[in-house]
Amino acid sequence: MIEIPGAVLGELEAHARRSSPHEACAVLLGRGRRVARAELAENADASGASFSIRPERLLEIYGAAEGRGEEVVGIFHSHPASAARPSATDERYMAANAVPWVIYSGVDGAFAAYEAAGGVREVGIRRT
Ligand SMILES: [Zn+2]
Repeated sequence: MIEIPGAVLGELEAHARRSSPHEACAVLLGRGRRVARAELAENADASGASFSIRPERLLEIYGAAEGRGEEVVGIFHSHPASAARPSATDERYMAANAVPWVIYSGVDGAFAAYEAAGGVREVGIRRT
């Protein structure tokens, strides 16, 4: 289970819609399993099938988190034209980033979260 404030989900959805047809991405900051806020990022791949965040932007985000005593509690990206399920590429990267991955689908407006813990499994999202 990962807890995400409704306002943050709204912000992520707007970011996904603005970025479409490219994937949108963001880093979710907070503590434990609670998201406090999203640091939106530009998709350096400018692609509808993959995303990456520039290293300088990532450093800025990590710095902001440390300054507030927060940690990275999730990674967000959107699938503009497919379901909110991890792609094969996502699954590869998820193994190296052991936090929940939150995916938004531009097809049906659904959010879903997954994590790699021995195998990829779905994690519930609680809107707070
Ligand atoms: Zn994906």
